[in-house]
Formats: sequence, structure tokens, C-alpha cells
Amino acid sequence: MRKDNLTIPWDKVRFVADLHIHSNYSRATSQEMTPRRLNEYAKMKGIKVMGTGDFTHPLYLKELEEALEKAPDGFYCLKDDPQGTRFCLSAEISNIFSWHGKTHRIHMVIIVSDLKEAQTIQAHLKRLGNVSSDGRPIFGFPAKDLVRIVRESSDNFLVIPAHIWTPWFSLFGAKSGFDSIEECFEEETEHIYALETGLSSDPPMNWMWSALDRFTLVSNSDAHSPQKIGREANCFSCELDLEAMFQAIREPQKGFLGTIEFFPEEGKYHWDGHRLCGVALSPKETIRLGGLCPKCGKPLTVGVMHRVLELSDRDESTVPDGALPFEHLIPLSEVLQEALGVKSFSKRVRQEYERIVKEIAPEIDVLCRIPIETLKGVLSERLIQGILNMREGRVDIMPGHDGEYGIISLYGSDSKDVKKTAIKKKGNKKAHQKTLF
Ligand SMILES: [Zn+2]
Ligand SMILES: [Zn+2]
Repeated sequence: MRKDNLTIPWDKVRFVADLHIHSNYSRATSQEMTPRRLNEYAKMKGIKVMGTGDFTHPLYLKELEEALEKAPDGFYCLKDDPQGTRFCLSAEISNIFSWHGKTHRIHMVIIVSDLKEAQTIQAHLKRLGNVSSDGRPIFGFPAKDLVRIVRESSDNFLVIPAHIWTPWFSLFGAKSGFDSIEECFEEETEHIYALETGLSSDPPMNWMWSALDRFTLVSNSDAHSPQKIGREANCFSCELDLEAMFQAIREPQKGFLGTIEFFPEEGKYHWDGHRLCGVALSPKETIRLGGLCPKCGKPLTVGVMHRVLELSDRDESTVPDGALPFEHLIPLSEVLQEALGVKSFSKRVRQEYERIVKEIAPEIDVLCRIPIETLKGVLSERLIQGILNMREGRVDIMPGHDGEYGIISLYGSDSKDVKKTAIKKKGNKKAHQKTLF
């Protein structure tokens, strides 16, 4: 299969799911991250299934119990909107632990099928640390113990290492990760079926390492505000049913079609660099400089691309058997901002966004699904051109580094924001990877 054939077959997509977000009980999150607001925003986005996030937090779990009820399909829904957004119980845990003499910091997403199981896990975790201080609690036990705890508390669960490449808090992160999944999870490895690629990496980057072939590569938004849900998500062709979704994640041929992705260069840790020094470097440049910042002389924060190259055993053109389709997406609010030539999510952007999702279709459908011909006449020519450029991957990007998001431009030279050093994509998913090395 060629990479350019790997686009999502939208006619087969039955639902889109975003399984990793945070509630208003997590640090630095919007007050709007509540079941009710998520229910509404997910509809505007075109997402049918949302992870609740943060079920480990006692007050949030209480809120979920009050607001939600079980639907016949095994998901939860708002009591007063039984046809609305589906929810599954998800949470993210931060494990900071010493393992064979080295400190590791790993984030993991856990998803269970029932409120009772969520309560059991919360009660168990409460004995091991503080579950109330943060929606994403921190524990000092090894990551593999979390798999065991979830396994012993739930009949039907998923444990998914989160944003596996980010430098500071992830399974393979340059700062405190591991060099193999077995080293981290040992005998619990067999219970891991999926890996979350995170905003700064996309499936082709993960295909470069054969050790990941047997895992389903999932993508979620990790959103802290409702505007950001669905910026990465998963597309399913199975029926809308919790058990079917779990099965499809474990065995993609049962209905996991592929993922919606950020352009990985837009992620905060794609390249290497120092944010405060204003230094962004490709992995090749970092190596040439001996890993030290040309401005301050201290070690650079090594990003995701660099770390992928360190662990990978294939070149960037490899498409393994079983590789799933994916599509790069830029949130509609960002496309609108650039089309309208404004810097932020202004009133004008908000009004236009609301008009589009109300009058035409939910955001993901407008961005990915609806034929361009159909959009003509209802959207401005400039906006349509932006959407087309996004769909075909014709964008310029100044890569993200050391916690700073990348800057993306859909309109090439008209944009003043993107520096001359930006990577020019030509609409060929393969071409951009070449320019990185
Ligand atoms: Zn995380
Ligand atoms: Zn520096």
C-alpha cells in the first residue's frame, strides 16, 4: 500500500471518538470541561463518543454519576439527552517512579466500561496516593502496577500509554521514558493493545519502528478546553457500541478505520530546541551541535522526531502491513483565523464558526468529509482554498519545539506569521518527511 492511498474512507465512518481529555478538576483546564458542555461541543465537532476524562477525581466522578446514565449501547449519555453524545469512562494517570536505578515519568490513559469499576479503581488509588489534588493524579508506583490494578478492577478495560513520544512524561520520552515497551510493562505488556501517538507524532513516524507494529495507534485530543476536543480523534466503522469499540481498538480489522491527526510539526515537541532561547532545530542540526543549544550552551530539549529516529529501525518511507489510514487536520477555528487574517479566536471567528457548524455540518465533516464542490457557494472562496490546502497537505509549518506549538500556514507566502525557515509541504505526505532529515 502507498502512503497517499491511506486516507480515511469517510463513507465507512460510523462514528468518531476522542477518548482522552481533562475535566475542570485538572490543572490549567477550562471551567467549561463538564459533561454538559462536552455533550454540546462534541455535537458541533462531529464527535459521537467522548472520554469523560478524570474519573479518578472523587468530585468529578460524583458529577458523572449525577449527570450520566447507561445507554443500551453500553456507553453513557446525559440523563436528559439520551440520543446525545456517548461517553466512556476515561482517566489519565501520571506515574513517577524509580525503575532499575532510573527515574521514569509516564502518563497512561485508562478506560473502563462501568461506573462501578471506576469507583473501585478510584478507591484503590486513594489508598496509594492523593486522587483529589488533580484530575490527573500522580503516583509513585511503577506503571505496570497500574495495568494490574485496572485489570483486577474491571472486566472490560483499555490501558493506553499516553502521547508516547513527548520528552517529559511518556513511555518513550527522551527525558524519562524507556527504550522498549517490555522494559516498562514486563509481564503486563500483553494487556496493552494500543498506543497514543500524541500531537507531535503521526502514524508514518511510528511506522518507522517495527516494535510498534502489533499495537493499534490511537489519537486523542488531550484537550483542556472544549474548543480543542477532536483536534485528534479515532474513526470507527463498527456499530456504535462500547464493546464493539473496545474490540475494534484491540483488533482494528473489527472496525477501527484510522485516525485524525494534527500535523505533527504543529505539536509542541516535534523538533528539538530551547523555547526561551528561541532556538528550534531539526534532529540533524542537534546532532551536528553535539546536543547543545547554540545560544546558552545547555543541553537542548530533544523532541519527538529526534527520539523516533533514535529508536526506529526503518526508514521514513516504510508502510508496514496493517498500517491504517490517517488524515491531517487543522481545527476549523484556526483555518478561519488565517482565512480572516486575525490572530486570535475573536468574536468574528466565533460567529463564523458557529454559523458554519449550525448551517452546514459539524466541524469534522466540513474539514474532512463534505466534497469541496458542495462547500462552494456556502463558504468563502478563500476558506474553501484553505480547507483544500489542508486536505491535500499543502501547508507551511514552523515546527513546534520545547513546549512551543508549531506555526502553520495554509496560504503560503501570504502569511506573515511563518518564518522563512518553515517546512514547505507539497501535498505529498511522503515529501515532507524527507525535508526533515
Ligand atoms: Zn498526559
Ligand atoms: Zn538555550
